[in-house]
Amino acid sequence: MNILFLGAPGCGKGTQSKMLIKEYGIPQISTGDLLRSEISSKSELGNQLKDIISQGKFVNDEIVLELVSKKINSPECKKGFILDGFPRNLSQAKSLDKLLNTINIQIKYVFFIDVPSELLIKRCVGRITCDTCGRIENEYFSDFKEGDKCGDGVFVKRADDNEKTVTNRLKVYTEQTEPIIDYYKEKNILHTIIGGEGPATELTNQIFDILS
Ligand code: AMP
Repeated sequence: MNILFLGAPGCGKGTQSKMLIKEYGIPQISTGDLLRSEISSKSELGNQLKDIISQGKFVNDEIVLELVSKKINSPECKKGFILDGFPRNLSQAKSLDKLLNTINIQIKYVFFIDVPSELLIKRCVGRITCDTCGRIENEYFSDFKEGDKCGDGVFVKRADDNEKTVTNRLKVYTEQTEPIIDYYKEKNILHTIIGGEGPATELTNQIFDILS
């Protein structure tokens, strides 16, 4: 089962991916997470990535493709995977097709999570994530705040989840990522998940219905 999530920053791709991991036991490939762990390693590449990501710009296609290719070809992805945050432009979508063709697999489901744009900034700016279990909460919509404990972990905020960077990320999304919705529509594998402004569980139910 190979699944791809599409949608603007803050639409809930990460949250829904985590629900699918729980249900189907297949790994999530989040290019944002992979890039952030490269930054944490303080490598030379990591330092270059930090600047790009903090401005809300896209990282070079080749770098991202290399990270994705390594993951998809790893044993943990044998039974399938969930792509989150990749592809982000048409060129990446075409490169992904080529990569999958060479190993004879296909994306079966593309879920596009549709969320009204006015909500997205609040979703990103308020987002906090547990540094240990990956649980995602929002300072505007829950009682949790940055620095609060979550089991053995603590809720942290991403450096690029500030208003200025988020505004740029949304602009880049509209210009470069939105056009790939049609690319997958034409392949007849696109499923639009509606009500993205509502509770996460309602979206999960729609996704599970389609998968079953
Ligand atoms: P995300 O965690 O998916 O919101 O990604 C955080 C940031 O990482 C983005 O704003 C980009 O700067 C970078 N990034 C993540 N995925 C990609 C991608 N597929 N192509 C280019 N840049 C990416």
